[in-house]
Amino acid sequence: MILKNAKLYGQEGRWNIGVKGEQIKTITPHTSQNETSDVNVIDLQGKIVLPPYVEPHIHLDYALTAGTPRWNQSGSVFEGIEIWSERKQIANETKDDIKKRALKAIKMQLKHGIQHVRTHVDVSDPKLRGLEALLEVKEEIKPWMDLQLVALPQEGLYTKSDGEELLIKALEMGADVVGGIPHYELTREDGVQSVLKALELAVKYDKLVDIHCDEIDDDQSRYIEVLAGESLKLGMGDRVTASHTTAMASYSNAYTYKLFQTLRKAKIHFVALPKANLHLQGRFDNYPTRRGLTRVKELLNEGINVCFGLDSIMDPWYPLGDGNLMDVVDTGLHACHMTDHDHIVTALNLITTNGAKALGIEEGYGIKEGNKANLIVIDSDSEYEAIRTQATVLYSIRNGKVMVETKPAETTIDVPGLLW
Ligand SMILES: [Zn+2]
Repeated sequence: MILKNAKLYGQEGRWNIGVKGEQIKTITPHTSQNETSDVNVIDLQGKIVLPPYVEPHIHLDYALTAGTPRWNQSGSVFEGIEIWSERKQIANETKDDIKKRALKAIKMQLKHGIQHVRTHVDVSDPKLRGLEALLEVKEEIKPWMDLQLVALPQEGLYTKSDGEELLIKALEMGADVVGGIPHYELTREDGVQSVLKALELAVKYDKLVDIHCDEIDDDQSRYIEVLAGESLKLGMGDRVTASHTTAMASYSNAYTYKLFQTLRKAKIHFVALPKANLHLQGRFDNYPTRRGLTRVKELLNEGINVCFGLDSIMDPWYPLGDGNLMDVVDTGLHACHMTDHDHIVTALNLITTNGAKALGIEEGYGIKEGNKANLIVIDSDSEYEAIRTQATVLYSIRNGKVMVETKPAETTIDVPGLLW
């Protein structure tokens, strides 16, 4: 297959991408002389080709459960946890029920050009049904999507009496990443201990770490300094991710200045979840209401890796979402005051290469000769216009085969007599 007349994301010129089997074989300049008679040619007419989108933070085992058994009225993180806990007790879902919901959500993600996903999975359920379901989904979906599973002690590692035992069991069953939720533990000390335990288990079982960290509008919630400081001491920062860190929006600048010194040295990754956290944070404020997002622009300015994720598709924490990361980018750029030209034209890094770094999948990721032919084509010939128009994913190609194709909508406007 040849993808001819392509624009490569972030590069000038037009290119022909030759795909043989599952691999990108050649990338050569596109000229009118090198037209080919190969029947399997897709003319991209200058549209942008880029590596598949990376969703670094979603909860597939929670997907499509919003409103059952009840809606989250306060819109807070903590009511979400309460509702989920109630639901587990009464819904009595089988492994197959959970798989069905997860696969419906995955279908939405595939449609939107995502091929790499890190999903958190609740391991507070003594039967670990969510994990069993997602381990099976991970294997079944492998030809089309790479899935990483985070063992998340959703109801607290120490708040729930068997939390630690279940987390260890989940890691032994095959979860790829150790999770945590220190701001939900009963005491500050338990929170600190849960972070230390996550790092200890990651070393012991050779896993990555991704902590739901400081997802609260409390300027005293400072588990990020523990996570970053201890990762630095252990020399494992690039294997560690901090998700949410919304309390950072409430820290004083003096404290943040000191914190950033540690973050720079530690080299940990950050996941910002603009849609979910604009919805969840600031719920206990009068006016002005805080946006409650982590300091995305400042972290990026310091050379710290930040990526964007969606977090939820219709669950007790967030009632909307259909898997679309371009929509997350649009919201995030607005909410983080990143609507200047330079941030707009590089915004897709937030859902491609930056996500790949956080997931530790950089090797083999990207449009390069010799790499797997995993790529997407979006309906725009400029990086700026792609963001302005929230360009649709026209093709998602996996292992050299077209997996998803979307025809752009066609609009006719019958308003004659104007100089359009
Ligand atoms: Zn989450």
